[in-house]
Amino acid sequence: MRVFKFGGASVKNAPAVVNTASIIHANVNGPLMVVVSAMGKTTNALELIVNAILSKQDYKNELQRLKDYHLNITNELFKAEHPIHKEIITVFDSIDDLSIKSFSEDQLYDQVVSLGEILSTLIVAAYVNQNGDKCTWLDAREFIKTDSNYRESKVDWDSSKLAMTSINFEVVKCYVTQGFIGRSTDGLTTTLGREGSDFTAAIFASCLDATSVTIWKDVPGVMNADPKRLPAAIVFEELPFKEAAEMTYYGASVIHPKTIKPLANAGIPLLVKNFDNPKLPGTRIHECNVDDLPPLIVFKDNQCLISCKVVDYTFIDEAQLGIIFKALAELSIKINLMQNSAISFSFCVDFRENKILKLIESLQHHFEVYYNTGLTLITIKNYDEKTFDFYRKQKGVMLEQSSRSTLQVLIKA
Ligand code: ASP
Ligand code: MG
Repeated sequence: MRVFKFGGASVKNAPAVVNTASIIHANVNGPLMVVVSAMGKTTNALELIVNAILSKQDYKNELQRLKDYHLNITNELFKAEHPIHKEIITVFDSIDDLSIKSFSEDQLYDQVVSLGEILSTLIVAAYVNQNGDKCTWLDAREFIKTDSNYRESKVDWDSSKLAMTSINFEVVKCYVTQGFIGRSTDGLTTTLGREGSDFTAAIFASCLDATSVTIWKDVPGVMNADPKRLPAAIVFEELPFKEAAEMTYYGASVIHPKTIKPLANAGIPLLVKNFDNPKLPGTRIHECNVDDLPPLIVFKDNQCLISCKVVDYTFIDEAQLGIIFKALAELSIKINLMQNSAISFSFCVDFRENKILKLIESLQHHFEVYYNTGLTLITIKNYDEKTFDFYRKQKGVMLEQSSRSTLQVLIKA
């Protein structure tokens, strides 16, 4: 059994859906589980709609725009009498009902934002079937069981695995299902965190003991840098799980950070392939040793550097570090880089404005706090002399740190 995952870009318009269906067609003899994300930028649009509902603003225009976007796609792909158009409209109509229910903010978010994946999978499954291939739409919420931590739900692996024992590839060779979503024990829809569809693919693969997972992307494979930033970037033929996991930690967006662990634990290889050119070999991430990996360069934008300075001529000590780490843990903020000096402790975090301003406010009770936003953290793993010198000499370096294998510089762009 194999798992395929198609992201938003691979279903962003009618030709993209046709292309995705052609890749499924070439592999439909299965057994195959196809995991699909919401189309194009649908999740962002649904987030805007949720925010508008929550702040009692008008959401109908944005909703109509999103509905038109989906119906334009179905109109291009299906005849007028096909039931899919009605199915899509029904999903959009359900948002009005959800908007007046008494959910918490995060519950409402999950009920509405999850619909992006419902829409995309209805369309993809219908199109694959119209194309002559047999493929069954599967509701991921019946199989991905989670806790009730809405927006960032944790997977209950045992119950999910148990639920999946009812999936029978002898009867159905190919399923199309949603990434990113699950169901809590309360019976409500949950989501696994933004960009979580890769993780869904890994959950299905691990629970169903797949032979491989293939993530279809708009790049030729995993590259040693973002080709939009460094056109000379090269594609890795293969990568050890450990290397790939570390890349995602430093912010490489090619694979969702939670994806590698379940696959590595189960020894299931992860293939990253190009959906525009399926013949290209792509990258194989698996248990292997690769000598002489080229330097890997990861850019992480929208960083904030925060410095906490002691106010009374004492030095930064463990008790003060304790205060800082406690405040970070309470807000679930992850440190991307940190450094201390005699009288101050500096650290770099993703600038999620609401959370960071709360953090700064709480730290101000104990320290003089300074902060800078709009920074970029560049991580160079497996650096060589040339890349080491080049990145250290960038303009506007605010903080730098190196170990034997990794250099990190924080720059003001
Ligand atoms: N549609 C969701 C998002 O954009 C999940 C995903 O794309 O993986 O965050
Ligand atoms: Mg997406």
